[in-house]
Amino acid sequence: MGAEIIYGKELAQELRLNMKQEVSKLKEQGIIPKLTVILIGEDPASKSYVKGKQKASDFVGVDADLIELPNETSEQTLLELIDKLNQDQTVNGILVQLPLPKHIEEQTIIEAIDPSKDVDGFHPISVGRMLTGKDTFLPCTPFGIITMLKSKDITIEGKHAVIVGRSNIVGKPVGQLLLNENATVTYCHSRTNNMDELIKMADILIVAVGKETFIHGDQIKEGAIVVDVGVNRNESGKLVGDVHFDSAKEKASYITPVPGGVGPMTITMLLHNTIQSAKSAHAKG
Ligand code: NAP
Repeated sequence: MGAEIIYGKELAQELRLNMKQEVSKLKEQGIIPKLTVILIGEDPASKSYVKGKQKASDFVGVDADLIELPNETSEQTLLELIDKLNQDQTVNGILVQLPLPKHIEEQTIIEAIDPSKDVDGFHPISVGRMLTGKDTFLPCTPFGIITMLKSKDITIEGKHAVIVGRSNIVGKPVGQLLLNENATVTYCHSRTNNMDELIKMADILIVAVGKETFIHGDQIKEGAIVVDVGVNRNESGKLVGDVHFDSAKEKASYITPVPGGVGPMTITMLLHNTIQSAKSAHAKG
């Protein structure tokens, strides 16, 4: 029979069309959502992510401003720029594309962004608010995953969610959001002893490791809901996830593809956060 595929790309398109209408109404009230993206250095993957963000912003009508700085940019210069953007009332979202060059401390930069403009949801205040279930900017990839599950009316409450990967941007927060939705959550990582056993118990399996074919269909439970966050290039240069799609599809009840799954949702939630930020800035006056 095979799993139902959750096409993030289609859902993202639908959400972006709604956002486009919303932004056009906001503009009639003089509200122009603006996202400033800071890109440091020449990393091709970062350049391509930033391009995707700009393209999606253009489609929705969000004003996306890209500031490109050389790899040698000092931490101090970057902090001064962020301070300027924090003060700039026309800017609703500040996104510093990660990873940063080694001489810049990532956490220092994340913490310098005004939490009211933290559309990536990485600031400790945003993280703490998420942890305590308060309204805040949710980190975009985990937020996109929850939105995908909800779009299929998948019940999260009571399910055992197993997360493979515990990064600050994907693994940890997606587990927290699932916990907030009343799932029972298990985290697996590189030091987990009985990972196969735990994976087999997952009603919802989220894989965010960054290794091609890390999970194969025979490892998962019949009827599991599988979300593949991984983005890898295989030998022939093709984009693939962390899950062996063809075998997992035969066992799962739902599965997300790569490409066209979680990726497009991440950018969409960034736009959502930027629009929310513009609306609350306007409401505050
Ligand atoms: P990351 O920071 O490298 O974290 C990888 C996680 O996988 C770590 O927690 C690591 O465990 C765990 N891991 C590595 N080897 C393992 C093993 N053999 N067994 C169990 N766990 C293992 O990566 P990330 O930033 O979370 O990204 C993960 C993947 O998602 C990457 O492919 C990335 O490109 C992709 N991604 C996609 C999107 C999207 O929008 N589609 C967004 C973000 C990331 P330890 O903590 O113990 O080292």
